[in-house]
Amino acid sequence: MVKEDEKVIPVRVVLRCRPLVPKEISEGCQMCLSFVPEEQQVIVGNDKSFTYDFVFDPSAEQEEVFNTSVAPLIRGIFKGYNATVLAYGQTGSGKTYSMGGTYTADQEHEPTVGVIPRVIKLLFQEKERRLEWEFTLKVSYLEIYNEDILDLLSPSRERSQISIREDPKEGIKIVGLTERDVACAQDTILCLEQGNNSRTVASTAMNSQSSRSHAIFTISIEQRKKSDKNSSFRCKLHLVDLAGSERQKKTKAEGDRLKEGININRGLLCLGNVISALGDENKKGGFVPYRDSKLTRLLQDSLGGNSHTLMIACVSPADSNLEETLNTLRYADRARKIKNKPIVNIDPQAAELNHLKQQVQQLQVLLLQAHGGTLPVSINMKPSENLQSLMEKNQSLIEENEKLSRGLSEAAGQTAQMLERIILTEQENDKMNAKLEELRQHAACKLDLQKLVETLEDQELKENIEVVRNLQQVIVQLQDESAACVAASMEAVAEMANSEQESDAQAETSQDSKRSPDAFTTQHALRQAEMSKALIELNKALALKEALAKKMTQNDSQLEPIQSQYQTNIKGLESEVSSLQKEKEELILALHTAKKDVNQAKLSERRRKRLQELEGQMNELKKKLNEQSKLLKLKESTERTVSKLNQEIREMKNQRVQLMRQMKEDAEKFRQWKQQKDKEVIQLKERDRKRQYELLKLERDFKNQANILRRKTEEAAAANKRLKDALQKQREVVDKRKESQNRGMEGAAARVKSWLANEVEVLVSTEEARRHLSDLLEDRKILAQELLQLREKGEAGETPPLKLRVSDTQGVIAESYTHSLSPYCYTGSLLFGSVKSYDE
Ligand code: ADP
Ligand code: MG
Repeated sequence: MVKEDEKVIPVRVVLRCRPLVPKEISEGCQMCLSFVPEEQQVIVGNDKSFTYDFVFDPSAEQEEVFNTSVAPLIRGIFKGYNATVLAYGQTGSGKTYSMGGTYTADQEHEPTVGVIPRVIKLLFQEKERRLEWEFTLKVSYLEIYNEDILDLLSPSRERSQISIREDPKEGIKIVGLTERDVACAQDTILCLEQGNNSRTVASTAMNSQSSRSHAIFTISIEQRKKSDKNSSFRCKLHLVDLAGSERQKKTKAEGDRLKEGININRGLLCLGNVISALGDENKKGGFVPYRDSKLTRLLQDSLGGNSHTLMIACVSPADSNLEETLNTLRYADRARKIKNKPIVNIDPQAAELNHLKQQVQQLQVLLLQAHGGTLPVSINMKPSENLQSLMEKNQSLIEENEKLSRGLSEAAGQTAQMLERIILTEQENDKMNAKLEELRQHAACKLDLQKLVETLEDQELKENIEVVRNLQQVIVQLQDESAACVAASMEAVAEMANSEQESDAQAETSQDSKRSPDAFTTQHALRQAEMSKALIELNKALALKEALAKKMTQNDSQLEPIQSQYQTNIKGLESEVSSLQKEKEELILALHTAKKDVNQAKLSERRRKRLQELEGQMNELKKKLNEQSKLLKLKESTERTVSKLNQEIREMKNQRVQLMRQMKEDAEKFRQWKQQKDKEVIQLKERDRKRQYELLKLERDFKNQANILRRKTEEAAAANKRLKDALQKQREVVDKRKESQNRGMEGAAARVKSWLANEVEVLVSTEEARRHLSDLLEDRKILAQELLQLREKGEAGETPPLKLRVSDTQGVIAESYTHSLSPYCYTGSLLFGSVKSYDE
């Protein structure tokens, strides 16, 4: 807190501008105030500026307002100063909000808590710190309505006899007012709540009374030093929620209302006069009109005593309240002019707070980014840029993915068709082969026609047989060709499988960007690709199996001639063996008979040898026989394998057909789905077209209305000009009158006449300007509602051109407001004067 000279009592003025309230926003009101925070300056429209001790723009929180402007005042209390905080402003400008006049205990931890509860809290905190002091605190809460004082803490709520006495020693005393002793913050808050409740009850009983009454919450503090009884202070803290400063509308100013209005304005005007009188250096020690109203009498102690006084001037930023706002600004400015040495009082705490807040915000952004995994790549790069480029990249990737999956789906479809054709051809081929085999097996083919031709005599028959022989050859050739064909098709299938695998690998890379709007299409394509891949693999396996089976049967057929040869061999060998056996037996018999004959010994020897030879031959033959039977067994086993293979091949073919069918079904499903989606898209487009049309129509209407508004604005501007001229003339006349006053009474009648005429013109012009203004405000209210509707529709339809148009029309309104600002200035200044004269 800045040290102040004890003798100079500066009334500090805080300007507080609340945010636009929803009602004002919905009526299309614009901010008509701008702020220069470093300079504590507020600018009205674009020319008039006012400077105060503190200026709080709409973003200022209660805590900031309190800490910056009110808290130093409270600390001053402990030095023995009286302190007063006054909230001034039109109804709805945020006086009660700022003062915390509707405080309830549930609000305790909310940031919207106003001045009074915060003051109480701080007061008791400070009190706790001052252990060497003894304190007695008392609280009273009253309301001034129609120049009557109502005790808000009185248990009976009846109008007790309250009167104001001036004690030469103790200053102003209110006799009969309830004073509650409070020991802690809770007690005090309880009193505040009780009083607030009484106020609210009263306001429901008497319509909008709260804005027509002044409420004063007073805390009286006695402090004595425990060690030094002589050192004691007795001071008061007044926290005042003044009545609305708005001018009473002429239409309402009748009867009680008129009286009420006069009374409210009297209090405020007297306050202003008192402030002026106190602040005027020339009138120092002069008469101060405290007695003109109860308000000023009650505040007499704190205005002009050892008090710090703070006025919180509350204003609405809406241009529809400009007149009242200007009045408030002027009033506050007058209050501030009490001292011509403005106190530069920048609170380092608030600055630090702001700085820290900013830092916290920055850190929060960084944190968010870190959480989102999008930490800026380089520190120089702005995060938003980074995000932008990422978004673009993502978009292009999504598009590419869409394209690719479309391609994939087409390719998969083609593959499926081709595969189907292949399968069909293969089936045909199989049938043909079977036929061919049949033909080959046909008896006709087995005839040895060559021999027949040679033996036959008949020429005709010969020719016929020749034809049949040719046919035989053709059949054999055909078979060879078909074998070659099968081999070629197998290679083709294998190749296709390879290429499919490649494309599949590509498809897989784009798989994770499945979030594209055509996710279903992509999925379908991938599924189809998967299935065709499976099909191709099956085909490949099938081809391999078929090749194997073929080879085996081929081997078999190669074995066949050998086998038959062997069989004949076996037969020959067997007969040989049996003949040899017979010979052997004969020989044995001969040998027996020959034994008796010695001469025949030689012969028998030869025979024995022969017998041995024969036995050797027989053994050999038997071995051969064995081998041959083994071979036969082998053949049987290969035959079994082949048949098993064939079985497998059949199964695989079945599987293939099933897969094919599944693929087809899937494709069909997809086709149906797509058809339906296409239909939906068409419907949506149609709806969009309709909405566009509607929008256009609305836009057209809106334009028309905007034109009307423009015309009205122009009219208003013209009225303005007339008013200006009239005012100019009025001034001229005044000047002239001053000049001619010296010239005596001659022409007095003429002067009075022209003066009257001018005066009348000024009044007429003023009224006209006012009427135009209220018309414009009304029109704008309607337009703003339409604008809102249009904007909602525009946003739903995402049509950016409309937004542009909307801002155009906002421009028209803004323009009309700069026009209407000038009559405000005039009417505003006139008004202040008229209120004054009213009262006089
Ligand atoms: P007054 O007492 O001057 O007639 P109020 O304090 O009742 O006005 O305020 C009118 C409305 O404006 C209330 O709804 C209040 O919540 C709101 N208001 C006033 N000041 C602010 C502010 N600084 N921030 C947000 N809302 C505010
Ligand atoms: Mg209020």
